[in-house]
Amino acid sequence: MSKPYLDIKKNFPVLNRTFDGKPLIYLDTAATSQKPAVVIDAMDRFYRESYGTVRRGVYRLSEKATQAYEGTRHKVANLINAASDREIIYTRGCTESLNLVAYSWGRTFLKPGDEIILSQIEHHANIVPWQIVRDMSGAVIKTIPCDDHGQLLLDEYRKLLSPKTKVVAVNHVSNALGTINPVKEMARLAHEVGAVVVVDGAQSISHMRVDVQDLGADFYAFSSHKMFGPTGAGILYGRYDLLEKMLPFQGGGDMIRQVTFERTTLQVPPHRFEAGTPSIVEVLGLGVAVDYLQTVGLENIEAHEHALLEYGTKLLSEIPGLHLIGTAAKKSGILGFALDGIHPHDIGTLLDMEGIAIRAGHHCAQPTMERFGVPATARASLGPYNTESDLDALAAGIRKIQGMFHH
Ligand SMILES: *Cc1c(COP(=O)(O)O)cnc(C)c1O
Repeated sequence: MSKPYLDIKKNFPVLNRTFDGKPLIYLDTAATSQKPAVVIDAMDRFYRESYGTVRRGVYRLSEKATQAYEGTRHKVANLINAASDREIIYTRGCTESLNLVAYSWGRTFLKPGDEIILSQIEHHANIVPWQIVRDMSGAVIKTIPCDDHGQLLLDEYRKLLSPKTKVVAVNHVSNALGTINPVKEMARLAHEVGAVVVVDGAQSISHMRVDVQDLGADFYAFSSHKMFGPTGAGILYGRYDLLEKMLPFQGGGDMIRQVTFERTTLQVPPHRFEAGTPSIVEVLGLGVAVDYLQTVGLENIEAHEHALLEYGTKLLSEIPGLHLIGTAAKKSGILGFALDGIHPHDIGTLLDMEGIAIRAGHHCAQPTMERFGVPATARASLGPYNTESDLDALAAGIRKIQGMFHH
């Protein structure tokens, strides 16, 4: 094989199990990624040997835990080329990160008549928080349409931009279609009118090299669990000069300097946005996941998944009655499709009987489904541990289902 395929399935314990004697074929990484043994073992070891609270205790256990916890901040800052560790805020996940920006930034800076620009192909997590602050502030939401391939129409975007535009919030990669959006160009245009750029990076962070400064992202949000780390942790990157001007998202311990009943003085970022005891072990696990990503290499992952995407696109395109939904020229490893006469949920259930795990549904992107005139799609999504034979099995499974329905 001439293409740069990776061989890392063995690093992921669950991928070596079987269902009814059939090997698990995991094609749902866009929903959540599997975890390598290094992450699972590090979290286990931490609980057994080093667990303690962070940033409070004076004893050695807590000091060690704090070091590991703050170490992740540095690793994440490095991963995305943030200018400083202070620009990395720990959250519970991408959804919370996007809510944090919408509330903390939106509540302070949005006024009646201001405009929020979203794309037509956003995840609900990058729609609903903006609707909530729209209703609180009297701002207005406008949306960038896409073409039949799922590519945003940049001319329409340019027409929407004006001095009224205060924020542009867009995903880097669409979780339903796989479209890689031109966020660098979009950010440049948004900055020309003085708008702030929020990027939902849930589907890009573990699939390509992300450089927040090069992209011009003012905020960048993602989840640990989609990048080989545990659930319960996420990141919001924010430009420090913006974070400094923002009010807290939640109040409580750790985000204050001093509290009396008359008044409270706030911590500086990032701690201002980290109220309460955090997900200590999950953050530690995220740090190990970042190390793992760096070791495998984002460039290698991107090349591997791209080669698989091309292979899978060809295989699926050859199946009569199968329609790919999301055919952008620049695409990440997501294969959304519909089959004539067969509901996506039936596809998902029947593939499961072959040991193949895909997602069926609206993918938390109902406006995207509406754009393509379907209530749901079946979606196979790729990770670096997938192989050509996984896709061969998918194609064979689909043909088998078609045989069951059409005979
Ligand atoms: C998964 C996902 C989210 C939400 O992430 P959570 O981990 O569920 O908070 C947001 N946006 C996109 C594009 C996603 O794929």
